[in-house]
Amino acid sequence: MIHATPEEIVFSSGGTEADNHAIKGVAFALRDKGKHIITTKVEHPGVLNACMYLEERGFEVTYLPPDRYGIVDPDDVKGAIRKDTILISVMLANNETGTLLPIREIGAVAREAGVLFHSDMVQALGKAPIDVKEMNVDLGAFSGHKMYAPKGVGILYIREGLDPDNLIHGGHQEAGRRAGTENLAGIAAFGKACQLMHREMREDAPRIERLRKKLLDGIHTRIDDVQLNGHPEFRLPNTLNLSFGFVESESLLIGLDLAGIAVSSGSACSSGSPEPSHVLLAMGIAPEVCQGALRMSLGRGSTEDEIDYVLDVLPDVVGRLRSMSPFYKKK
Ligand code: PLP
Repeated sequence: MIHATPEEIVFSSGGTEADNHAIKGVAFALRDKGKHIITTKVEHPGVLNACMYLEERGFEVTYLPPDRYGIVDPDDVKGAIRKDTILISVMLANNETGTLLPIREIGAVAREAGVLFHSDMVQALGKAPIDVKEMNVDLGAFSGHKMYAPKGVGILYIREGLDPDNLIHGGHQEAGRRAGTENLAGIAAFGKACQLMHREMREDAPRIERLRKKLLDGIHTRIDDVQLNGHPEFRLPNTLNLSFGFVESESLLIGLDLAGIAVSSGSACSSGSPEPSHVLLAMGIAPEVCQGALRMSLGRGSTEDEIDYVLDVLPDVVGRLRSMSPFYKKK
């Protein structure tokens, strides 16, 4: 599914562990060569917090800003490379906006400079085609529960010939690269999910994309002052991130929840935090617009009727909340 050999696959407890293994593993294995790492401001906390941990231990990290669509320019990556750069880490698909980043080009920049390239590919697996060889990816993180396998299982792809330090020390499981008894049931389920998704992605993705477009078009026709966050074209088929002016996403979330519609006011990983999204802020979106951002994710089970239902309910919920806002004036 990702064009790797079985020997290049190390099972983990999830995407976070795989990100940590890649980043800390390369940093500690290559620290005599250099201590500089390049990443972006839109990464998942699994990457950002691993980098911050390394900063506290003498490594230097450059956090590249994205453009207003959440895309990082490969030329900016090239410009940030120094003699002591040992790792570049850039995600394939952003978990909050669905924006796809130009990984192939960034991988080529890394390869040309002789710097290792890690990509958090957690959100893209099963939704967009992945070829780690063609994308010049040296280390790639994946997670089962983003594609209908159970929670608690992930993968770190390690290109043949690379030898990052271990993250977890103990027994000799996973060819000595990740200690601890394997989560066999999770791994088997992840394998089955990969088989199914690999077969069905070609039909699923266009169907889901069509429903997402219907949802977005319908929202734009029915509700004014709505902004799409993320790139309009270079994006995953299933994710929408929208800011509704004069409405707080938390209130919108509750209103929709009462109507039986499950959405998110940010990424699941930061939903406990009242801070505006670091991803949207990095894209230059004003804090008050970030506060109104709502993430809607579609999946294999999403139906036309469900989209129609959301389009029926959403304008009323937004209208009710706006009628309570002292700042909102109907256009
Ligand atoms: N990276 C991205 C882009 C994600 O969306 C997630 C989601 O949780 C993770 C990493 C972490 O994966 P896990 O929950 O399996 O630790």
